[in-house]
Amino acid sequence: MTTQTIAPILDGKEWTDIDSDPFDVINPATGQVIGQEPSCDESAVERIVDSSARAFQSKDWQALAAAERGHMLLKLADLVEEQAEAMVALELADTGKPITQLRTGEIPLTSAIIRFYAGAADKVEGSIKSGSPNEVLMQIHEPYGVVAGILPWNYPFVNAALKVAPAIATGNAIILKPSQETPLGTLAFAKLCTEAGIPDGIVNVVLGSGSTTGEALIMNPAVKKISFTGSTEVGQHIQKRAAEQMKMVNLECGGKNAILVFADADLERAAEAVLLSAFVNAGQLCVSCSRLLVDKTIGADFESILVDKIKKIKVGNPEEEDTLVGPMITRNQYDIALGYLDEIHGNGCKVLCGGGRPVMQEPFKDGLWIEPTILSQVTRGMKVHDEEIFGPVLSVVRFKDEAEAISIANSVAYGLSGSVWTKDGSRALRVSKALDTGITWVNTMLTGYPQISVPPHKLSGTGVELGVEGMMAYLKRKSIVINHDDEAPVGWGLS
Ligand code: NDP
Repeated sequence: MTTQTIAPILDGKEWTDIDSDPFDVINPATGQVIGQEPSCDESAVERIVDSSARAFQSKDWQALAAAERGHMLLKLADLVEEQAEAMVALELADTGKPITQLRTGEIPLTSAIIRFYAGAADKVEGSIKSGSPNEVLMQIHEPYGVVAGILPWNYPFVNAALKVAPAIATGNAIILKPSQETPLGTLAFAKLCTEAGIPDGIVNVVLGSGSTTGEALIMNPAVKKISFTGSTEVGQHIQKRAAEQMKMVNLECGGKNAILVFADADLERAAEAVLLSAFVNAGQLCVSCSRLLVDKTIGADFESILVDKIKKIKVGNPEEEDTLVGPMITRNQYDIALGYLDEIHGNGCKVLCGGGRPVMQEPFKDGLWIEPTILSQVTRGMKVHDEEIFGPVLSVVRFKDEAEAISIANSVAYGLSGSVWTKDGSRALRVSKALDTGITWVNTMLTGYPQISVPPHKLSGTGVELGVEGMMAYLKRKSIVINHDDEAPVGWGLS
């Protein structure tokens, strides 16, 4: 791929003459520089926020019916599908994600999310409450105005759709801040928004680091709501800063999710689910299960099945259709994941497979590669059990009974997802209810639907994305009381 032009989006167009020191954007599979990214300082962020505020207040935007915004989103979904291969090429270069996961996972999910919110745009309902005979009591919803969508690097298109589609459906303007490491998909997405007829300035993009650009964006008083996806640590920081201006936030943060395999499960299918969940996108997926909790009566046999199957998993060239595991996406996350693997020696766990860097040939020698790794004999209290690695590392813990399985699953600080494998329907429901997670899959894993939310529990976040609830999070509430009797007493009271 040739070097990319990278520029923030201001008033729906590339701001190419912005003056700043460039940041090298790297293809993580090869280590090659694929573009130079400018950075928005506080005054550049202010200029972009002003553009968004003007666009939000413009008569053209305010005059649109909800269904017309829905039509724009339908057009956007069409464009994502029509230009899917161009999008795939960009994200291959920017994230090194395997091509089949892009074609069959990220791109279709992106358009499904946009279509869901296109249809939901004119389904927002207020309410009428009963009051005195002389008064009508109404509760309605209004957009916040300018909202900020702060994105991580792991799924640039899906995350952009998760923020932009509900924001547009509800009549807000939105400013995206992609990770500095992966701007290409977000910028392409914003250009498609313009092509779809979404007015200039309604979807803008700032570029730069979290500490400078992100901070300037979240603290700008004209930004009224923040939707953040990323680490728990940064999420907590954003929530504290937002509190200074009483801004609404929703935070989708980390996870250390468990897949529970009981002795009566279909072990072949369960093993496939375990490997897919742990190693898709090289483990860089917040809802992946990086802990396997397995009944100790089948523990050894199940581990053998996993080891046999993992040998068939292809690690390497992301452009080949049968590749499952690509590189880590950022140098920082690569160092973090390798750091966890360096620390396991002497901690009591056993490396069943992987454990370090694979040997790679050109052109991948300088890429950010880590072998899919399975660690057995892991116990609570070990860092590889308790902390999120966000890399291709699966920790296996054996449990003696259902109660212990639930207790181990819930023992971590996070509560995002879980998966239960058993043929006993009562147990499936009992365990699903007992897991302190936003979503639990039963005898399946990672199936995603725009209509159901994944509300994060514990340190995994706050608020909600996806589903109609995820759209309502982009609206503020308002009550209106109308008197229609000039003889009625004025003033407060419950008459
Ligand atoms: P970070 O929290 O480091 O960054 C997320 C985004 O926030 C980036 O765009 C980053 O900018 C920005 N940011 C950082 N500091 C600030 C700040 N002070 N103000 C405003 N913005 C800021 O996470 P990563 O991008 O490294 O993603 C990995 C983490 O995200 C993992 O822990 C994972 O669990 C979590 N995650 C959660 C998901 C979920 O849906 N629950 C999905 C995906 C990831 P920059 O990086 O450019 O400096």
